[in-house]
Amino acid sequence: MKKIYLDYAATTPVDKKVLKAMLPYFGEKYGNASSIHNFGREASVAVEKARKLAADFFGAQPREIIFTSGATESNNLAIKGAVKAYWTDKNNNKKPHIIATSIEHHSILDVCESLKRDKLAEITLVDPQKNGVVKISDIEKALKPNTILVSVMYVNNEIGTVQPIVELGKIIKRYNPKILFQTDATQAVNYFDCDVNRLGVDLMSLSAHKIYGPKGAGVLYIRNSVAVKRIQDGGGQERNLRAGTINTPGIVGLGAAIKEIKNSKFKIKNGKIGELRDYLIGRVLKEIPKVRLNGSKIRRSPNNANFTFQNVEGESLIILLSQAGIAVSTGSACSSGSLNPSHVLLAIGLKPEQTHGSLRITLGKYTTKEEIDYATDKLKIIIDKLRRVSGNVLDEYYHKH
Ligand code: PMP
Repeated sequence: MKKIYLDYAATTPVDKKVLKAMLPYFGEKYGNASSIHNFGREASVAVEKARKLAADFFGAQPREIIFTSGATESNNLAIKGAVKAYWTDKNNNKKPHIIATSIEHHSILDVCESLKRDKLAEITLVDPQKNGVVKISDIEKALKPNTILVSVMYVNNEIGTVQPIVELGKIIKRYNPKILFQTDATQAVNYFDCDVNRLGVDLMSLSAHKIYGPKGAGVLYIRNSVAVKRIQDGGGQERNLRAGTINTPGIVGLGAAIKEIKNSKFKIKNGKIGELRDYLIGRVLKEIPKVRLNGSKIRRSPNNANFTFQNVEGESLIILLSQAGIAVSTGSACSSGSLNPSHVLLAIGLKPEQTHGSLRITLGKYTTKEEIDYATDKLKIIIDKLRRVSGNVLDEYYHKH
């Protein structure tokens, strides 16, 4: 059976060069990076090499790169850590205010919810426009004297929309330079400029497994001047900000993955992915009736397509596509499995019943035109089949009632 992977936003395969770089650290180079002896030294040299690679790539200093287990942990540390630092300062007694968008990943939204529940922060969630892009003036309007942090994701994981990070940074800092600006860049690193100074961000999260690296490794960039307190107690690793034995193989893999992005002529590659994605969207919109593309056509990651098919149940679609060897997703991988409507699709104005017929197709560097053609052909057949079944069920229902 064919195996076609079109779910690169959920995770990416590990690049062969990345795997090769990691393997010795699962084998003979097993030292604990915090140990003083030679075994430890060998590991810590590799970790620092990866830190330097990441720092150079993001235009940061090595000490501003904190290795974590992934973007979920980075987002937790960024926001909870900033709130903790705020409350640790004896001069602060007014509840701090945090702004985020309503289409953030759950690792931001749930952190905000828990801070609100614990009465540690006041939260404002700003809705995007119908095209999935946040209006700069809407963020500006939400700023208040007690705002301490604004979190806006760079690229949305469901609909691929790209937020105006540079412009947002400017208006936030103009209002009050002390407000921290965070971006979750997890879905952006492969495709967009992530230089922290050009972006104007103080905190930035990302994950290795979305950039052809391993699962279980990530980065939180913390600008030098920014106060963040650790949220996990234990050892003093990562400048006392992230307790726990350093994941040497994962970090080496993360560094190697970043090196690959740097080495690859990524503009050319991204152009190719974008062309294939446009070809896919073109075919689907032309050849399948009653379908809409969710999210802006222009401000969109080159690898993302997200459709809603009328009168189709998304879960059935995924299962039938999977039986045909095609891996795609409904909303985000983290929330699929639950039948809750996607909060992103609701936020851009879809009705709950419409969100169920949605499908996310995400491409990557190994995607070919043949795969897109095969997947589109199958999609057409399966949608037709599902619509006929649901049509029959409805006919039967109306016949009986
Ligand atoms: N943020 C975004 C935008 C994501 O897409 C994901 C992964 N779905 C995460 C955070 C969580 O990343 P991780 O799996 O590394 O915890």
